[in-house]
Amino acid sequence: MTRGFYIGRFQPFHNGHLSVVEQIADDVDELVLGIGSADDSHTVRNPFTAGERIMMITKSLVDTDLVTYAVPIEDLERNSVWVSHVQSMSPDFDVAYSNNPLVIQLFREAGVEVRQSPMFNREVLAGTEIRDRMVDDGDWESLVPEAVVEVVDEIDGIERIQMISDTDSDGDWTA
Ligand code: ATP
Ligand code: MG
Repeated sequence: MTRGFYIGRFQPFHNGHLSVVEQIADDVDELVLGIGSADDSHTVRNPFTAGERIMMITKSLVDTDLVTYAVPIEDLERNSVWVSHVQSMSPDFDVAYSNNPLVIQLFREAGVEVRQSPMFNREVLAGTEIRDRMVDDGDWESLVPEAVVEVVDEIDGIERIQMISDTDSDGDWTA
């Protein structure tokens, strides 16, 4: 039995993430999806809460041939103990999947095996691109699983991201 770990902010969970999970499924029996910046929401970079991202991930992966766990991971401004922080929140795992150089370095220093996955259609399958399209009323729906469209609809996510991206809003309550 092998259990993997894959971390992202998943703002939102998109078809690139889904392709990564489908590829990892060939390697492992179970997969933990670590939801990074779990404590952040309602910002242009992190519009969705941890709970909303759990819904997106759980519903998108309902048909995959893999046991999955979505685990919120709060930010920690202390890289030296970040792997311990992750391990304290996650089911135990054998291998971590990442393309992020810092994440790879931190796991390797902690003695965790790391595997990298290829990028799928990265020109458009990127959270930043998808959030830009949500703000600009572009076609974001074709870049995410159908389940994510339904969750964003349920939580009025487009109205939220358009409201918080308004130039009059700089994240300062009193401004
Ligand atoms: P953002 O633009 O907000 O950073 P993102 O698309 O990079 O969004 P993340 O949640 O930061 O999404 O990504 C989590 C992990 O998924 C990262 O390791 C990232 O490299 C990987 N990833 C993101 N998009 C793709 C893709 N199209 N193909 C393969 N891996 C991807
Ligand atoms: Mg990213």
